[in-house]
Amino acid sequence: MPNPELLPINVAGEWRLGGGAETATLYPATGEVVGRLRAPSLDDVQEAIDQADHAFRTSGWAQRKPHERAAVLHRVAQMIRERAEPLAQLQRLDNGKPINETRALVASAAGTFQYIAAACETLEEALTPSRGDFMSMSVHEPMGVVAAITPWNSPIASEAQKLAPALAAGNAVVVKPAEATPLLALELAKICEEAGVPRGLVSVLPGRGSVIGDAITRHPLVRRVSFTGGTATGKHIAHIAADKMMPVSLELGGKSATMVLADADLDHAVNGVLYGIFSSSGESCIAGSRLFVARSLYDGFMQRLTARAAALRVGDPADERTQMGPLITARHRESIESHVALGLAEGGRLLTGGCRPEGAQFERGYYYRPTIIDGVQNDWQICQQEIFGPVLVAMPFDSEADLIAQANDSLYALAAGIWTRDYKAAWRIGRAVQAGTVWINTYKQFSISTPFGGWRDSGLGREKGRLGIQQYMEQKSLYWGLNDNPLPWAH
Ligand code: NAD
Repeated sequence: MPNPELLPINVAGEWRLGGGAETATLYPATGEVVGRLRAPSLDDVQEAIDQADHAFRTSGWAQRKPHERAAVLHRVAQMIRERAEPLAQLQRLDNGKPINETRALVASAAGTFQYIAAACETLEEALTPSRGDFMSMSVHEPMGVVAAITPWNSPIASEAQKLAPALAAGNAVVVKPAEATPLLALELAKICEEAGVPRGLVSVLPGRGSVIGDAITRHPLVRRVSFTGGTATGKHIAHIAADKMMPVSLELGGKSATMVLADADLDHAVNGVLYGIFSSSGESCIAGSRLFVARSLYDGFMQRLTARAAALRVGDPADERTQMGPLITARHRESIESHVALGLAEGGRLLTGGCRPEGAQFERGYYYRPTIIDGVQNDWQICQQEIFGPVLVAMPFDSEADLIAQANDSLYALAAGIWTRDYKAAWRIGRAVQAGTVWINTYKQFSISTPFGGWRDSGLGREKGRLGIQQYMEQKSLYWGLNDNPLPWAH
């Protein structure tokens, strides 16, 4: 384990112990302490935001030319790549994901900074058609201090997704990582500092969301919150934002439908469904957790899927062959167990899993077996509530209309997957399904160049893409008079 000493947090560029309670982050595979730190106090939050505002106004970052800010962001990308392996190993310890997944998350964070740096250099403003003797323009200005509040399931990638565009836009950023996984955000802040982001512009304030996250959100100098996390928390933040007239982006929960049509390539579909729900141990907002299979295929498909799920390699996150590591905390595993118990009490049939794996190697970690439940109905709680774990519910469907109706019958609308060889059906269903992202004959694929976000209870606003930078800016219209004569009205 890396560090038994108390770790400093980052209060507007000052690395020091927080003034709040001591907390520890634990390795989910063993329960051992990975790092200890003292959370910030409310005074630390106040100081970080005041200093961030000062740095925004005085550091000159916002006034640097886009290519100059881009050069710093390119250095951040480069330094993440140079430290990729230690970062991936630290993230494995902090969050328990298999090493291959944490390596991919670190690579994704570097790619985000690289893309945003390029986008920052090439963003254009608009000269709008003028209706008088003036030049009219639409431009964008940085906001000041913005906040990034992130969950525990994909640290460094989530933080990069917010930090890179917010910095590219010229802002100061206060990052509030999840209590369970503070370490990667702290490492990323160190890299930003070493790469040349002016001191004070980035703070990392780990701590309890209901205290530290809430105080950050309410602070009058915080001009925008970019939040990723649960829907209940997102709604709470939206209420505060409404009172402050503050823009927010909310990346929230999901209960995404995966649909296997009668003509699907079944090898691809089985692999895709497994990957969609069980990678990251199902601790993924976009997990394909509701499966719909054409009734003509249903029994055979479910047999294949169940056998493959039962054979997934659950185990040590340090082993490169591991497919599913432990869950984030003992408490989260208990919550998954109670969801499964509820689904079975509602009348569901357990096809595989539904228990902790047995064996000495699993005793100390928060492991849970890949679980499939069928015999359910879409309006049951097990099909409607987000579980955020390795639990798949499966149902047959009879027609395309039935499929679309069931897929859309959810409070959530984050993502969906369609497996079919019929490109016309893929087009029809792909357009009819209500979701922020639809994958056709693939699942859980991402590109930083393509917008991401949810509908309804899955969120508000979009991240990623070139225009993601402008989410962290305010639009301004400029009119520039060109007439040699005074305005006629006063004559
Ligand atoms: P959470 O909502 O409990 O916490 C997320 C973050 O918000 C944490 O940093 C937490 O400390 C903070 N927070 C909690 N209460 C707060 C408050 N009152 N004010 C301000 N901040 C507060 O979620 P979680 O358990 O960490 O993450 C799991 C959830 O995140 C799932 O619902 C999952 O679907 C969602 N998620 C969504 C996406 C997406 O992009 N849509 C991605 C990953 C995770």
